[in-house]
Amino acid sequence: METPPPPPSPCTQVDPDLFFPKTDGEDPSLPTPAEQEALAVCAGCPLGAKAACLLKALDAAPAWHQWGVVGGATASQRKAILRRTAERRTAEYVAQLAEVA
Ligand code: SF4
Repeated sequence: METPPPPPSPCTQVDPDLFFPKTDGEDPSLPTPAEQEALAVCAGCPLGAKAACLLKALDAAPAWHQWGVVGGATASQRKAILRRTAERRTAEYVAQLAEVA
């Protein structure tokens, strides 16, 4: 018996423009009402699909991380993830250098 295909992602059932609001808001750390609407759609996405979507967006940075809601995160939230990741990797690298020195 064949496994049924996974259900379509929730974002395929709504207007794609919903995920690309005109601005990222005045306070980039806070999602705008338009971004919150898109985030609510992403909240209905299966966790595995959402994680894959977010990873794809982060891997495609900087082009993808500049605009819109992707992978359950706003552009500002994705930039923060990338910044924290870079900071952690830098700290790990510096610690490795210190061990060698
Ligand atoms: S997480 Fe990605 S695949 Fe899922 S609804 Fe949001 S944009 Fe679509």
